[in-house]
This record gives sequence, C-alpha cells and structure tokens, in this order.
Amino acid sequence: MVTTRRTTVAVVGGGPAGVVLGLLLARAGVAVEVVERHDDFNRDFRGDTVHASTIRLLDELGLGDVFRALPQSRLDDFSLPMPDGSRLLLGDFSRLAPPYDHVAMVPQWDLLDMLVTAARAEPSFTITMGTAATGVIVENGIVTGVHLARRSDPGEHTELRAELVVACDGRGSTVRDAVGFRPVSTSVPFDTWWFRLPREDGDTASALVPAFSDGDVLLSFPRPEHHQVAYFAPKGSDARLRAEGVEAFRARVARLRPDFADRVGAIGSMDEVHVLDVRMDRLHRWWRSGLLCIGDAAHAMSPAGGVGINLAVQDAVAAATVLAPALLAGRSGAGLDRDLARVQRRRTPPAVVVQAAQSVLHRVVFERAFAGRLGDGPPLLPVLLARYVPPVRGLYARGVAFGPLPEHAPGWARR
Ligand SMILES: Cc1cc2nc3c(=O)[nH]c(=O)nc-3n(C[C@H](O)[C@H](O)[C@H](O)COP(=O)(O)OP(=O)(O)OC[C@H]3O[C@@H](n4cnc5c(N)ncnc54)[C@H](O)[C@@H]3O)c2cc1C
Repeated sequence: MVTTRRTTVAVVGGGPAGVVLGLLLARAGVAVEVVERHDDFNRDFRGDTVHASTIRLLDELGLGDVFRALPQSRLDDFSLPMPDGSRLLLGDFSRLAPPYDHVAMVPQWDLLDMLVTAARAEPSFTITMGTAATGVIVENGIVTGVHLARRSDPGEHTELRAELVVACDGRGSTVRDAVGFRPVSTSVPFDTWWFRLPREDGDTASALVPAFSDGDVLLSFPRPEHHQVAYFAPKGSDARLRAEGVEAFRARVARLRPDFADRVGAIGSMDEVHVLDVRMDRLHRWWRSGLLCIGDAAHAMSPAGGVGINLAVQDAVAAATVLAPALLAGRSGAGLDRDLARVQRRRTPPAVVVQAAQSVLHRVVFERAFAGRLGDGPPLLPVLLARYVPPVRGLYARGVAFGPLPEHAPGWARR
C-alpha cells in the first residue's frame, strides 16, 4: 500500500546534522520531518566529542544547562607521547576563555535525545523513527520528495513530498546515491577497531593521549560506565587481526596501554571488536534542484581530531540560517537553487581545511607510527613551536575547539 504525506523540508537521517537542522528549521516555523532508519539513537560505536563551537551553539539555543546536566567528562588538553616516554603538551584548552575552554565527551545518543526533546517542543517539527528513505522522487528534473519504507513493515511504502529534501544520512548516503552524486575519496592509511573495556575507580580522563607502538595506535574515550577504545592499524589488517585471535589482540592492547593490562580479559572474543572502514571523501557538488547534502553525506571525515560531529552540526546551522528565510519567503524547487549554492559556498572551506589537516595528521603521525618511525628525524616545526612557544598551545587548542568559520545560532532560533 502506498500512502502520501507532505511537509516543507524532508530531512533524511537523524544524526547530528539532521537533528540540528530539524530543530532550527522548526524554530523558524518551517514544517520539517526528520526520518531516521533506526528505532532509537543508541549508536554505540560513535564518537563522543562535543567541541567548544557546538557547546557555544547549545548555549545560544538555550540548551546549555540541559547539556551540562548530561553525563559527561571533559578534555582539557591534548598531548603527544615522545620517544623518551615523556608527553608533549600540544594543545591547552585552558588558554581559551571559559566556559568554552574544553571539549566535552558526551555519548552521542544523549546529545541527540536532548536535541530531539527540544525540537519536539516546536509544533512544526516531526520525527519518524524506524523508517528509511529508499529513493528520491524526481519530477521535471527537481527532487520533490523521498520514498520511505518502515523497518518493521517493509511492505508499507510512503511517499514523503517536500519543497526540499536534505540528505543527512551519513557517509553511506542512500539519497546521495539515488541522485548519482559520487564523492571523491582521499586515501586514508588506517582502519579503526572499536571495543569496550571496564572503567575503574581512579581512572583519570582529562587528557586524551594516543598510545603508539611500532605498527599500531590506541585511543580511549572515557564513558560513565566504561572506556570506549579505538585501535588503529594499517588499512586492510582486519583479516590478519581476526586470524591471530583474541589473545593476540588483548596482548596488543596491553602492550600499548599497560594500565589496561588488568582488564583486557573483558574482550571476550573478536566478535566484540567492531571494525570501521575509515573513509575521507567530499562531494564536488552538494546540491541539485530540490536537494541538499550536508554533514557526512557531503564530506565523510576521518576520525583524526574527532571533528565530524561538530562539522555536521555547523553545516546544519549554516543550512538553516540560509534556507529558513528563503522557505518562509515561499521559495521552493528550482527557486531555491541560489540558496543551496550559498550553503555549499559557506561550508566547503571548513570541510576542505579540516580534511587537509587530517591528511597531514595521517602522514606525519599515523603513517610514521605504523612504520615504527615516529621517533625518527628532527621534531617537526609544529611540535617545536608547541614545546618552546607556549601561546602556540592556545592557538592549536582554538583551532581544534572552534575549527574554521564556526557558525552561530541565528537570532530567531535563540531561546
Ligand atoms: C566509529 C566512529 C567514531 C567517530 N568518532 C568521532 C568523534 O569522536 N568525534 C566526532 O566529532 N566525530 C566522530 N566521528 C564522526 C561522526 O560520527 C560523524 O562525522 C557525524 O556523526 C556525522 O554526522 P551526520 O549527521 O552527518 O551523519 P551520521 O551521524 O552518520 O548520521 C546519519 C544518520 O542517518 C541515518 N540514516 C542512514 N541512512 C538512512 C536512510 N536511508 N534513511 C533514514 N535514515 C538513514 C543513520 O541511521 C544515522 O542516524 C566518528 C565516526 C565513526 C563512524
């Protein structure tokens, strides 16, 4: 059976980009429906970092107090381990003006739940969970809606008609594929394996320090109940790691982080170690008449630097800022083309700059670590600057905390 319903903006995907876009458009009074294929936001193996640019935005939206009440830990600086065993402080967030002087680590599901609760207070907001977009409706060359299927009842088919469709469905975007957009990829030298380890009293969490050895890297994110751990190794290592088995994997973890040696037994089998095929790519063109792609659907980010959530949020703010007035003025279909192009012009530079920085990190840190050459050669200029010119640590911290061209909430969205 096919049913049809109508909205002004159909947002596909309830991740950070889709939910923030839905909230802001609804606050402008634009009818918006967010469609999310999962039944809830409990996406375990996802990043947790909420940077200062996003925290400031939440304050502007009047959500700062609710956000600060969520279970979270703070990251006050970031360091690089040195070959002699010492740590070099690279970025020091305490040099930034409070309260935007840290990165918060908040499980993504808590952040998304909070944003959706705020959006539901707006009468023009709807979210439909457990429903996936399966394709787009195109009429006279203009995208005019999406085809939807419920996970629980794939036989039921809905056409959601809209003045504008926004693809926020992440790095494997169905909507983007449906219109034939192909992102251009940049090679990434590693994949990531995610797993949990128990958290114990006395574990400290204010600094995020990667652990390196010859051939691999490990990073852990403290959550209230456990550590979310990411193991990095050269791309294509998954079959070898699984063939070596869980004992060998536990030994790798313990070698990288001796303080975890007492709990690596909690990794029951390699089935509990989830591989992520890391990608970095970007669309040449983010829009066509009736459709815009933002967030990971427009530019999948490497996990290096943990900036993907924040860029996705900033894309959504820019899109709402440009598009809400245009939609309220009655523009639709091809009449929105110039506005869609403006969103892309505004958000391409930050995506390009951040991906370029991530490529540099891949080369100078990850590739050298995998080759066992992290300690080779003279220290790099940025490392020397951080060591001998302390204000540089504040500059690095600002770059990570706010990123290039951070967005502010438009006046009509503030509470
Ligand atoms: C393992 C991992 C760790 C990461 N660590 C960090 C980190 O620490 N910090 C950080 O800032 N970033 C991190 N990132 C990146 C970050 O998660 C993404 O950049 C960010 O979530 C992108 O937001 P988005 O809204 O564009 O897409 P996503 O978060 O991918 O959201 C897309 C949403 O669309 C839904 N969806 C997909 N297809 C459909 C469909 N056909 N119909 C309906 N819904 C659909 C998905 O279920 C999902 O909810 C990490 C990513 C991964 C995979």
